[in-house]
Amino acid sequence: MAGNKALILALADKKERQRLAKNVLEPAGYRVLEAENAKAARALMHDEEPPLLLLGDSLPDGDPFELAEELRATHVSLPIVMLTEADNLDHALRAMRIGVVDYLRAPFEATDVLESVGRALQHRRNWLQWVKKETGRLTGTLNKRLTELEAILRQVDDGVLVLDGAKRVMLVNQALRSAYGLDDREVLGETVGDLFKNDEILRAVLAQEVHGEHTEVQGQDGRVFSLNTTRVPEVGTVVTLHDITYLKELDRMKGDFVNTVSHDLRSPLTAILGYVELIERAGEVNEQQAQFIERVKVSVRSTTDLIGDLLDLGRMEVGVADDRERLQIEELVAETIEEQRNQVASRGQTLRLSKSSKLPEVIGSRTQLRQVMDNLIGNAVKYTPEQGEIRVMLREEDGQVIVHVADNGPGIPTEEQSQIFERFYRASNAGDEVQGTGLGLAIVKAVVENHRGRIWVDSKPGQGSIFTVVLPVAEDSKRI
Ligand code: ADP
Repeated sequence: MAGNKALILALADKKERQRLAKNVLEPAGYRVLEAENAKAARALMHDEEPPLLLLGDSLPDGDPFELAEELRATHVSLPIVMLTEADNLDHALRAMRIGVVDYLRAPFEATDVLESVGRALQHRRNWLQWVKKETGRLTGTLNKRLTELEAILRQVDDGVLVLDGAKRVMLVNQALRSAYGLDDREVLGETVGDLFKNDEILRAVLAQEVHGEHTEVQGQDGRVFSLNTTRVPEVGTVVTLHDITYLKELDRMKGDFVNTVSHDLRSPLTAILGYVELIERAGEVNEQQAQFIERVKVSVRSTTDLIGDLLDLGRMEVGVADDRERLQIEELVAETIEEQRNQVASRGQTLRLSKSSKLPEVIGSRTQLRQVMDNLIGNAVKYTPEQGEIRVMLREEDGQVIVHVADNGPGIPTEEQSQIFERFYRASNAGDEVQGTGLGLAIVKAVVENHRGRIWVDSKPGQGSIFTVVLPVAEDSKRI
């Protein structure tokens, strides 16, 4: 039986239609809705969602085969029985291609029609049952996979946070909960702003959402994490926090080591330099001896520079406290530019400063931040060939002061860009004629991070480099 839904009988011949409905189908218990043309059949299909369509092979307002094809596409579970007036092989073939379940030829005998309708309805029931079973199986597999995935995410040591498009929490795992003291609090649906109310840095990083970039953040339990955000289309943002506390500790130990060794190296060097200077005063030296003495002095000075850099870095990495004050980055930049003036002029370069109006203050160590500007602008001058252009741009955005130092020098090979902030790393295109220790950018990075800022480089080999430093604005900041 077709349940309480009516079959649709679309047949142009009114007499035959009524005979089939009244004398054959209804007496067998089927409800029947009659359609005299394609338009009516379409309307009934739309309103009734019937379990079966009996369709004549000629309709006054259109090709029934096209109608059948159209309905098969939109009502995938609908069986169609074709009722044909003429013995037409072409019609039979078309019907088969469309996928009608049966094809009856006039005269339509009651037993044939009822048998065919019964078969077609059974066919539909079987099909629906199969779909139901298959859907159940697939849903079961999917649910299982989902549960497994959730279990994995909950168990991994890295913190995982999934946010939807509106930055509301969709998933947060145990590692992240314990790092941020969330315990068993229900956080689903909360916004990042509410969730990390007390963590200004994390809020700022997540609000900014620079994808694929690693940022260091500190959890409430003191651990240090490398935070990475990835945009997942149609989901939102996946934030992962990888625990790097042990790496930081290792770094601190390295810093200690460097500090001690540098101190111990510096004193004998000072002595060497002192004695070398005394040689000249002790008596006449010939030209060759004077040359040797000069070489010793140059070497001792460059070693002293290297040790100085190492000491700075060591101090920075162990976080030796420096006096912090409110300051205008623009002033430091202006001082550096002034100091570089002669060098820039002798190389025929241009060095320009541009800034958006009224820059706010930042809080930091004047000496250290000056060192940042000296290194970045100094590098730009040092690596850019003669006649080159260097631009320093200052602006404010979202509570941060942003400094860009751009040049049109040789750039940095793409695969080396992530390494240039490491200690002693000098890019392969740096050239021996340009003096350097490979420590400048490591110092810059350590200072910037000590000031809760970020630094990165955008560079195209052969076209130039842009170093960007972002520092948080001091609260209630004055502007100039
Ligand atoms: P160095 O003492 O060698 O200048 P840094 O740590 O300051 O050391 O820089 C590391 C490396 O990064 C440099 O050796 C150089 O290869 C590359 N580099 C830094 N700044 C620039 C720049 N403005 N243009 C091209 N390369 C640069």
